[in-house]
Amino acid sequence: MIAYILDTSALVMGVNPSIIKGDVYSVPEVELELPSDSMAALRFATSRDSSILLVQSPRQTSNDMVRKASLKLGERLSLSKADLQILALGLDLRLKGMNPTIVSDDYAIQNVAEHLGINYTFLATFGITYEFNWSIYCPACFRRYVHSYTRRLCEVCGTELKRKVMKKYRKIGSSKNHRNS
Ligand SMILES: [Zn+2]
Repeated sequence: MIAYILDTSALVMGVNPSIIKGDVYSVPEVELELPSDSMAALRFATSRDSSILLVQSPRQTSNDMVRKASLKLGERLSLSKADLQILALGLDLRLKGMNPTIVSDDYAIQNVAEHLGINYTFLATFGITYEFNWSIYCPACFRRYVHSYTRRLCEVCGTELKRKVMKKYRKIGSSKNHRNS
């Protein structure tokens, strides 16, 4: 059985649980991150109420494992409470003998998922593409860099820089005309 776990970015950008083949999961904390009265919040509530979206809280031991892994990888500050729960749910489902795939375009989630051996996939898998702004920052001294900065290391302390998507703009279809309207 295929199982997907949707993070906040997946829901905000319009991934629709009801058209995904397989079991679709998320966590309670994601709902809190969705803008109230948004299409994403409405979709979350209705698909949860009709059991299309299975919303589960991960076990505390899984939360702890994810927290440890994210600290080790220097991603702790890049992950929200919802992000941590998403990853922990991935561990929980694996313990149940499933092989879940996290649906997220968040670099920090993908990085920690990879470390924990959890599958992940991009929103493009579900036909969602967009333009985005990257924010570049140093996880050690927190200096920020303009997104055109091309060096890999922090010029102040030499730590490897992190990149995080700050703003996403959904592209509707692939029409160039759309942006002019
Ligand atoms: Zn630095």
